[in-house]
Amino acid sequence: MQTLYPEVKVAPPGPNARVIIEQDRRYASPSYIKEYPLVIERGEGPWVYDVDGNRFLDFMAGIAVTSTGHSHPQVVRAIRDASERFLHICGTDFYYDVFSRLCERLAGYLPEMGPKKVFLTNSGTEAVEGALKLARYHTRRPYVIAFKGGFHGRSYGALSLNSSKVTQRAFFGPLLPGVIHVPYANPYRCARGCPPNACEPSCNAAHALEKDWFVNHVDPREVAAIFVEPILGEGGYVVPPASFLQELRRICDQHGILLVFDEIQSGIGRTGRMFAAEHFGVMPDILLSAKGIASGMPLGAIIAREDVMTWPRGSHGSTYGGNPLCCAAALATLDVVEGMLEEVRATGELLQEGLRGLQRLHPVIGDVRGVGLMVGAEFVQPGTREPAATYVAELEQLAFQKGLLLLSCGKSTIRFAPPLVVRRHEVEVMLHILGECMDVLDARHPEVRT
Ligand code: PLP
Repeated sequence: MQTLYPEVKVAPPGPNARVIIEQDRRYASPSYIKEYPLVIERGEGPWVYDVDGNRFLDFMAGIAVTSTGHSHPQVVRAIRDASERFLHICGTDFYYDVFSRLCERLAGYLPEMGPKKVFLTNSGTEAVEGALKLARYHTRRPYVIAFKGGFHGRSYGALSLNSSKVTQRAFFGPLLPGVIHVPYANPYRCARGCPPNACEPSCNAAHALEKDWFVNHVDPREVAAIFVEPILGEGGYVVPPASFLQELRRICDQHGILLVFDEIQSGIGRTGRMFAAEHFGVMPDILLSAKGIASGMPLGAIIAREDVMTWPRGSHGSTYGGNPLCCAAALATLDVVEGMLEEVRATGELLQEGLRGLQRLHPVIGDVRGVGLMVGAEFVQPGTREPAATYVAELEQLAFQKGLLLLSCGKSTIRFAPPLVVRRHEVEVMLHILGECMDVLDARHPEVRT
């Protein structure tokens, strides 16, 4: 296999990119974020080529989506073959092979959950939205619990569960009533200011629920579900201790509450297991998937225990959900990802080791954490846990200029979520560029040197 390096021949945005950016600025909604002026022309594996001929190494995978890399030949072939047969018939109303095959395939993961049924959606948000409806329908209870720092999507139900960035919610209210937010277990950054890995029992979510919410505010018999990301994504790539999820399972069992794992970002091999739940030994009642499931084609899934997915015919549906091209892409993606899990774990370890090496040289890196290829490095003012947000913003831009695609999350964390096909050499190249960028930024920011 050819050894590639990033190549920036024209400082981005180059002349071709500028034309497209101008057009976009003129006509596209101002709500889009546009992290940096990347204008993609094509991609291959973990490499992205822009419209001015620059080559970038992709460590963000279109927000943890292109699991099999850009345009994986097996996935492209599956989409092409499916598109030559038919583009649409509507899986809600009729039958087709790839739809039912994908449902069967997804129902087969996490066998400890028992028999399952699957509802296919167009996005992660829709999977969350559908799960909210299902939880209320099945339990006939109005309340739901979610977590501070959590992110679940942009429509009203999903948005109401969010608590990671105020801009996502500002002036959109009133949101869905009956959502209770409790603290997520963040071993590095406790909301009450405990030192890393030294939280008091009263800092945990179980305590907040059992000693406060269920005593003073809401009867647990009125709570339909707890929605939780087993590894926090947009909120900062935070890996909680297993006891956090185990406690949630215990509370759910005790009160007949449904445990919903939003694995939209952490699922489909991202952590070196098909689903992050496998790392914690805790099984949900409802599992949500999207993002990496179809390598970039719009698809999501609600995978629920059979005895939970009790909603009747006509109660929920979707015109496009489970589109044949997306189902074909998903089946091919799952074939590829299932064969890569061991490699993902090994590459992820190399990545974390490398980041820890950089942490020793650059005290601005406060914490390195993650599982598999879902890795975060949190940047802080050295000696404190004050977010180094400006440093991170500049790092993202500088890395881009040097041909490396990064994406932040939380207040000041860089998430490393490359396509799962990334190889050791590419991890080493990424670490080298990151180190170079940090040398430049450390010189620019004397406050981060000790
Ligand atoms: N849930 C989680 C954990 C996510 O990370 C995201 C997207 O970032 C969503 C839900 C929403 O998914 P989508 O953007 O596909 O609607």
